[in-house]
Formats: sequence, C-alpha cells, structure tokens
Amino acid sequence: MRMSKMYMPTLRETPSEAEIPSHQLLLRAGMIRKLVSGVYSYLPLGYRAIKKVEKVVREEMDAAGSQELLMSAIQPRELWEASGRWANFGPEMWRLRDRNDREFCLGPTHEEYFTDLIKDEIKSYKQLPLSIYQIQTKYRDEKRPRFGLMRCREFIMKDAYSFDVDEEAMSVAYQNMWDAYDRVFTRLKLNYKVVQGDTGAMGGKVSHEFTAMSHVGEGVVAYCNSCDFAATDEKAQVIYTIPQSDEEEKEIEKVLTPEVKTIDGLVEFFSIERYRFGKALVFVAQGEPVVVVIPGDRELNETKLANYLMVPGHELEMADEEIIKKISGANKGFTGPVGLAEGTRLLVDKRVTTLKNIVVGGNETDYHLVNVNYGRDFQGEVVEDLLMIEEGDTCPTCGEKLSLDRGIEVGNIFQLGTKYSESLKATYLDVNGKEQPFVMGSYGIGVSRSVAAVVEQYHDEKGIIWPFVVAPYHAVVTIVNTKKDEQNQLGEKIYEDLKKMGVEVLLDDRNERPGVKFTDRELIGIPVQITVGKMAGEGIVEYSLRKREGKQEVTADKIKDLIIEAFEEEGFSL
Ligand code: ATP
Ligand code: MG
Repeated sequence: MRMSKMYMPTLRETPSEAEIPSHQLLLRAGMIRKLVSGVYSYLPLGYRAIKKVEKVVREEMDAAGSQELLMSAIQPRELWEASGRWANFGPEMWRLRDRNDREFCLGPTHEEYFTDLIKDEIKSYKQLPLSIYQIQTKYRDEKRPRFGLMRCREFIMKDAYSFDVDEEAMSVAYQNMWDAYDRVFTRLKLNYKVVQGDTGAMGGKVSHEFTAMSHVGEGVVAYCNSCDFAATDEKAQVIYTIPQSDEEEKEIEKVLTPEVKTIDGLVEFFSIERYRFGKALVFVAQGEPVVVVIPGDRELNETKLANYLMVPGHELEMADEEIIKKISGANKGFTGPVGLAEGTRLLVDKRVTTLKNIVVGGNETDYHLVNVNYGRDFQGEVVEDLLMIEEGDTCPTCGEKLSLDRGIEVGNIFQLGTKYSESLKATYLDVNGKEQPFVMGSYGIGVSRSVAAVVEQYHDEKGIIWPFVVAPYHAVVTIVNTKKDEQNQLGEKIYEDLKKMGVEVLLDDRNERPGVKFTDRELIGIPVQITVGKMAGEGIVEYSLRKREGKQEVTADKIKDLIIEAFEEEGFSL
C-alpha cells in the first residue's frame, strides 16, 4: 500500500480524553475513531490489526474442531425471558422495539440463541459432541465505557458454544477450548495468566479467565508463586485466620464516640487492633436492605455477596442515608449488628463469629458498643467467606503467600452445565432413547479488546511496537526524499519485491519531510523499517526493527533474508 494514498489520520497531540497508552496510541496512530462513548470505528490500519487477531482466533478454533457460523445481533425478548436473563442482564442490555412493538435486544452474548438454534435439529447423542462459534459484534450498554477498545458498548467478540451428552464429555470440550485459547494468546504474544473466574449470572460452576497482564487492566488477579493457583480477586477464596483468644466474654457496654465514624478513628479511640471491629455495611439487594458484618481490617467482596444472595450484581447497591437510618435508627457510621430494626436481614462473615469482645456500631448516633460477642449479643446468617483477597493472603492450595497483579480479561471459558438447555428445553435422545438436556460450555474472546491488550504490552513513548502476528503491515519502506529519482526507483523496487514475497508492505512515498515520515513510522509501529536515502544510488539502504535500537546499512538484496530471520525470531510465518 502506498502511504500517499492511504487514509491514516495520525495525530501529533495526545487526545485529552485518552487515559491509557493503548487508547492514546490507537487514536494517535489513526487506527480508531470514536463516534460516541464506547462506540468506535476501526480505520484501515486498526481494522487490519483486528482482522489479524480474528485470523489467529479462527485458525485455532477451526483446528480445535469448532465450526464457524454467523448469527444476527438482533434477538427477540422471548428467548431471554426463557432463560431468566431478560431481567437479570439488567441495564447492560440494549433493548429495542420493532414497528409492531415487539421487543428485542442487541445481543450482549448468545447462549440463548445458540441453544435455541440447535435444539430442533440436534436430536440424538449420535450428533454430539458439537462445537460452533462466531466472530461477531456484541452490544453492552456498559456503566463505564472507557479506555478506548478496552471497554466498549459495541465490540467484536468470538463466542463459541459446546454441546455434549454429559458432564464428563463437556469437561473434555472445555479442556479442548482451554488448549485452543492457550495457542491463541501465545500466538498473539500476550503475557497472560489463566485464572479461576466467577461464574455469577452466567450459571454453571467452573470458569476460567485468560488475563493479559497489565498495570492498566481493570481486573485484579491473585496468584501464588509457589504453586499454580490463580484466581480473579472476585473469585479468590480468602483464608484468613484471626488470632484466637481464650478471653472471657465481658459485659457489653455502650460508649459515647462522637464524630468517630471511620475504622481508623475507632482504632485510635479504642486503641485496639483493627480486626476487633465488626464493620457493618448496609446494602440494598433487589429492594431489600441487608446488613453485612465483616472484620474491621478487611474489605467486602461484592461479587461474593451478590452470589450468596443470588441477585445479579446490578441489583446490589450501597444503601443511602435514609435506609441506614430506618434500619439502624442512627446516622451513617454507627450501624452495628445489635438491635437492628425487626426483620432486617443480617449476614455475618464466619470470621466475625470466632472473635471475642468486639467493638461494633451502636445503632444510635455517636455511640458504639464494646465487648460484643456473636451468639450472645447478635445472630445472623453466617457466611463462609465474604471478603476481598489481599496481597500476602494465604494461598488456598498450598498455604504460601499470594501476590496481586492487574490484568486485562481477554478471554473467558465457562462450564455452563444445563442451565440454558433446561430453561430453553433443548434436549437430545440418549443411548437408551431417553430425553436429556445438552450439557453446555461457552467460550468468549474479546477480539477488539485483545488488540488493545497487545498495544498495552507492546509500546514505548514513540508509539506502538506490533509483533508481526498482529501488525497491520509487516514492513514499511520509507523513501526519505521523493524528489530523488534513485531513491524512488530503489524504494519502488524493494516494495514490489517484498510484495512478491508475500510480505505486507507499506511504501512511504508521501511528499513529506523525513521527520514526519519517521515520526509516523514509529507511531504506527510496523515491525520492519527500510529507509531508502542518500545511498540509494549505490543500492544501499538502512534496515531496522521497530522493537530494537540501532540500524544497519545493507545492500537491497539482503533485505529478504533479514526479514525471514526477523519472522523466525518471533516464530511467525506468512
Ligand atoms: P468484563 O469482566 O471485562 O466486563 P465479561 O466477563 O463481562 O468481561 P464476557 O461476557 O466473558 O466478559 O465476554 C467475553 C469476552 O469479551 C471478555 O473476556 C472480554 O475479552 C470481551 N469483552 C467483554 N466486555 C467487553 C467490552 N465492554 N468491551 C470490549 N470487550 C469486552
Ligand atoms: Mg462485563
């Protein structure tokens, strides 16, 4: 492609709305443009990168025995009513009506539709296992669309679904997809971890997330350096042992604590350890207030809470002052488990029940209670684990210490079981002629998000540094001065030769200053750079790699071998 003809609107300045490198660089390199919040167009260079990711995904899915099809984005309400997700998906779902007032959504995902599609046609165990997938545009009206391609309201996803006779066969399909995902993200050159994920509203018990490690990632991963344990912070089980004491239960007392509302303030006021405060948090879950008590030194994990309450995450929120007053009789900051309004649901993290003589909010403005004991002074639903994991917590698998890092979720695999097949009545006849629900799995890859993840891991202050596998083009031939015939001639020749070789190549034949060409070249991040300048008359050019310092002068006939060498170094082939 001749850059003189190319639509590549690069920007010199970093757009102020872009906070993270991938967002800034994809905008600046003229690869994406925003229409409205969370809705982007992929411009020619950006779209080529997207298609590269799609190619890798497609090849690995096909190799894993999954078959590609393409479904519509529009899905009727009835499908989602059947699974219960018309209500449960909540405000993330884009809803619309046709001229006859029939309701639809723009698919945020396709479990229902895939299940419905096959249910009348796959009738017998003889037709199983089945694995099908699509690469398609998804719609989610995200609460906080941000970070460019990272969290969009319209984005490209690969979604696959497997249908099997039983749990055992499904776990084979699951492992098969896991392996395919490993190949995809390895080929994309991403530094990633596979971590246990929360299954939440999806249904099913087992899920794993493929997380590209990055300090700008929205996800947090807890992992062990001594064994292979890794889980999202939402999922990770907290092993938390409070020092046991054989203290006697003391008499409960009410203490005036004016203006002391925070745990820090209380630690100072009572001069005791943080964990000896019963921190009470008030939520509203599907309209009902719920008080949760956890040890004062820890944070609550809202995903664990939502799962325990069996409510979708969007139907769980912090209570406002008015509700707090109604159930506790006090201002915010003085809620506690003793003497809540009749009928208030109270959940207690198990760790709190093992503590003696704790301090809790007094349910009276400006008062706390001391020497409070579970069982004697209050009772509630004891929940095994409602805590958020922290750096240094104990590994649930091997007992060593856990580390925490941020990452970008680029893929997700779920063992769904029979949630969708049962609710949508999708069954097959087993060996004995008996009707059975399909046992399903679903598997997503964020195609557009993966492009952003690659940029997060491969860039410097000058621009993107694409690995060959995702690069919009493999090489760029820069003609330094287009007014010089010998430069034009040699540049054109190299350009044509590389094209013949199958190399995807750009020819910078623009009538621009060399500085502009070099700056753009660094910004758009094409891996191989060939500079045709002053020594063109002698057949000599400069060869450099975007990812490496330094350049070498070579005769034009050497370029081919150097490019092959560079491909090999990345394990890439045309
Ligand atoms: P997240 O926790 O980031 O919201 P999710 O768990 O909702 O992701 P899935 O429903 O598993 O995501 O979707 C499959 C894949 O699609 C994700 O692994 C991610 O890579 C991608 N994806 C999800 N939401 C978005 C989005 N808003 N923008 C871009 N990609 C997305
Ligand atoms: Mg999401």
